[in-house]
Amino acid sequence: MSATAPGTAALSSPDGSAVLTGTPVVPGVAYGPVVRPSGAVRLPADDGAVVAEEERAAERERFTAAAEMVADRLSERAGAATGASAEVLAATAGLARDRGLLSAVEQRIDAGSPAAVATVQAAQQFVDLFTGLGGVMAERVTDVRDVRDRIVAQLTGQHEPGVPRPEAPSVLLAEDLAPADTAGLDPARIAGLGTRLGGTTSHTAIIARQLGLPCVVAVGGLDDVPEGATVLLDGEQGTVTVDPDPAEARARVDAAQAAAAALAGYRGPGGTRDGLAVKVLANVQDGAGARTAAAAHAEGVGLLRTELDFLSRTEEPSVEEQARGYAEVFEAFPGRRVVVRTLDAGSDKPLAFATMPDEANPALGVRGLRVARRDPGLLERQLDAIAEAAGRTDAEAWVMAPMVATVAEAAGFAELVRARGLVPGVMIEVPSAALHAERLLRHVDFLSIGTNDLSQYTLAADRLSADLADLTDPWQPALLELVGVTAEAGQRTGRPVGVCGEAAADPLLGCVLVGLGITSLSCAVSSIAGVGARLAVTDSDACRRAAEAALGADDPRAARAAAREALGAG
Ligand code: PEP
Ligand code: MG
Repeated sequence: MSATAPGTAALSSPDGSAVLTGTPVVPGVAYGPVVRPSGAVRLPADDGAVVAEEERAAERERFTAAAEMVADRLSERAGAATGASAEVLAATAGLARDRGLLSAVEQRIDAGSPAAVATVQAAQQFVDLFTGLGGVMAERVTDVRDVRDRIVAQLTGQHEPGVPRPEAPSVLLAEDLAPADTAGLDPARIAGLGTRLGGTTSHTAIIARQLGLPCVVAVGGLDDVPEGATVLLDGEQGTVTVDPDPAEARARVDAAQAAAAALAGYRGPGGTRDGLAVKVLANVQDGAGARTAAAAHAEGVGLLRTELDFLSRTEEPSVEEQARGYAEVFEAFPGRRVVVRTLDAGSDKPLAFATMPDEANPALGVRGLRVARRDPGLLERQLDAIAEAAGRTDAEAWVMAPMVATVAEAAGFAELVRARGLVPGVMIEVPSAALHAERLLRHVDFLSIGTNDLSQYTLAADRLSADLADLTDPWQPALLELVGVTAEAGQRTGRPVGVCGEAAADPLLGCVLVGLGITSLSCAVSSIAGVGARLAVTDSDACRRAAEAALGADDPRAARAAAREALGAG
């Protein structure tokens, strides 16, 4: 068959089957029949029906019971999940219990609307609100719609939306997946994941990475692939081949499994085949994550996202509570480097006790280090807690600030960090910081590039927008050029420059980053072996050639292809 997306030509493989291309997210190959999420829930139209006054209390109770049922089911699944999956499911369950949403529905029922109609209308009110706010709130719109559909399904006796549980391992293809659907995926039944929308930092991508599920997002033409077709999904090449030659497909799966087995042998330390040392570190959010990372042979922590543990807190945690949490992470890496990032509050990670609630454009607002302009005590108390934790343990404690844009910000931060006997650094997430990397290094001891935000601010494209995923692709040559500029500043000054954004989780791109002069790669625990093992079979010269080739390309796809060729990856 030939499945061609509007504007996306399906390539043809030698055996004539259609090859759809998208953005590769998690390497690995999956082969199997296509399954799709269960059909959309039919939403009731407002036909003007009015519930009789004496029946409204019962209608309201019916709604409350449905919302509770949905929330309980999601919480139950959250309880059975771990890590990012558990968080996503718990957040969606929280929305099904959200007082604002529930009372908006109840008010409508009290005024005579049937419960299902009231749910649709109240949800729409929130969708409009979040869409109007724009930017970071876009993710919430998916959640609101998902909760709406689940409650309406419960009220009207329809199947709750979600992913199927096929008997044989299958490849799940979807327009996009609600966070709660992705978090509930069972890797024993779903062997791979392809979506028409989504980017490398979308929920789908984050959960697929955590589960180690081969995943390709933003695949053109995916909607035309019928359920029941057989596909070969390649999470490294970013392709979905429809009805491939079975023998060839099985050979590809076997080869990928052999490669995965080689990864299982990764023990660190990181470095190229010819002996250039490159630390392969982990991105974690708490002590449990740090222990998992140590077991996966991470050489340390390249990014401790301190804000993630406090997302549901209304009050600032005490210095002692913070110190205990940070000490747990340090304890997992005695004598090793642990880079703690100070609170990156705001934008996509709002904290009730730190974030300005009503900013028109939070991604360009008071987020990250900028929060300290209004509340310097918050930063100082966090640094006290980090210093306290460092004093109780013997990890090598480094501290960095997010969202630094100027030399003065770096200098001020460094002074506060050094005063506490810690090693200061800053994240490079803003183009101005990349351009002035060498000046920043006069004040701080290291830099760490956050490619997720650096791509957002370089390409002027919301990192959460599925529609703009091609712009925030970490292979964008302009982004790579800024990484190169920053790495060169590190080499001129003899200071380490790492990458801790999602770019560092891609084994092929990891080689390119090293070729650009990056000295450490920090990624999700599930990516450590892939990144480390790939680097271990690659010479530093090949990395440099791949970097040069990628920089010379005009777009992400061409950059990836050029790097693959330079690395001899076929
Ligand atoms: C980044 O922006 O690349 C980064 C690592 O920080 P976060 O994803 O937490 O914003
Ligand atoms: Mg960031």
